[in-house]
Amino acid sequence: MNVLVINAGSSSCKYQLINMENEVVLCAGLVERIGEDMGKLAHKIAPDTDKEEKIVLEQPFANHVEGMKKVVELITDADKGVVKDKSEIGAIGHRVVMGGEEITKSVKVDAKVKEIIDGYKALCPLHNPANLAGIEVAEELFPGTPSVAVFDTEFHQTMPSRAYMYPLPLNLYEDLKVRRYGFHGTSHRYVTKKAAEFLGKPVDEVNLVTCHLGNGCSMAAVKNGKCIDTTMGITPLEGLMMGTRCGDIDPAIVPFLVEAKGMTAAEVDTLMNKQSGLKGICGMNDMRDIHAAVEKGDEKAKMALDMFVYRIKKYIGSFYAALGRVDAVIFTAGIGENDDIVRAEVCSEMEVLGITIDLEKNAVRSGEPRNIAKAEGSVAVLVVPTNEELEIAQATMEVLKG
Ligand code: AMP
Repeated sequence: MNVLVINAGSSSCKYQLINMENEVVLCAGLVERIGEDMGKLAHKIAPDTDKEEKIVLEQPFANHVEGMKKVVELITDADKGVVKDKSEIGAIGHRVVMGGEEITKSVKVDAKVKEIIDGYKALCPLHNPANLAGIEVAEELFPGTPSVAVFDTEFHQTMPSRAYMYPLPLNLYEDLKVRRYGFHGTSHRYVTKKAAEFLGKPVDEVNLVTCHLGNGCSMAAVKNGKCIDTTMGITPLEGLMMGTRCGDIDPAIVPFLVEAKGMTAAEVDTLMNKQSGLKGICGMNDMRDIHAAVEKGDEKAKMALDMFVYRIKKYIGSFYAALGRVDAVIFTAGIGENDDIVRAEVCSEMEVLGITIDLEKNAVRSGEPRNIAKAEGSVAVLVVPTNEELEIAQATMEVLKG
């Protein structure tokens, strides 16, 4: 069966069509600047293979449906299409960011599920309404084809209350559901399964610290294959330092800024989400630029890198304490998979925890999961390329099989 994975953002829509018999990506792409004067559609046929072909179109797309209509034309094109007809797409898997406490597993989309997604729009204003737009695209363009929603928050629903509760007045949880939810769950779940496979252990026997380090960064403590804690909170702002997000700060800074600088709550929110993190400290948010600047002696870039690494180390220590036994530390996503300098610095002087790094193994580039720990290290240090689209497609198949 072919599964179309849709990851809709507020003005963009990412998609992948995957043949689930052999897990091969038939085509993938991104519709951008939806609703603007000029939109862009970048479509790749047989991506990352020697047969890869790219088609780029520049034209306005009034809404998500219009953008995805063009995608369907490309997918079913007589000449360059990858399937003959829409009916060869057996299911649609949707990335949905927030499912709250109501949704603990991927589910087939129905009116109730849509209502739950809509109910979290106040907490996830950038994501949930866009994800719902993606579902509506599927309903309009693929009537009768089953749609499955796969939630970023699902994997973290196994956290105990001591990890997900905030020490605020209890009524904020009871009335408003203010609690830790966690994000990047699809990625943490995918690398957990891959790590178990790599270690040759059943997934419900592995204890892991998973580090998803990309533009957004989060970590999870995984005990017997289940999440028991994670760094992101009620929003994807808490936890690690990120490209433009601050991560953990003293919450009293917020009212201080409101008072001292006359800022509104919305302005402080923008400052913390878009002008902070690596960018806030050194003006750059791409780790490659930061390394180049450090090479040239840029001290702010060095401070940003040191802060980024130090905060990951602190969380590895605290998740280690929460887990008691750790089989592996996992690095994944843009920085985790590609950045040997960050991995080496995070793992330096961690021998007391059994965490080591073999610098030669660390320098090898590969798309395969690999162990970069020294032979004598008691904890495996794994680089595991994440694949959130495949995880969504697999979850979609599992739901349909019941
Ligand atoms: P992601 O959100 O997973 O796509 O990750 C994107 C981020 O990964 C970029 O902003 C970069 O900071 C980082 N990144 C990607 N490639 C590299 C690389 N070769 N070395 C260091 N960082 C990288």
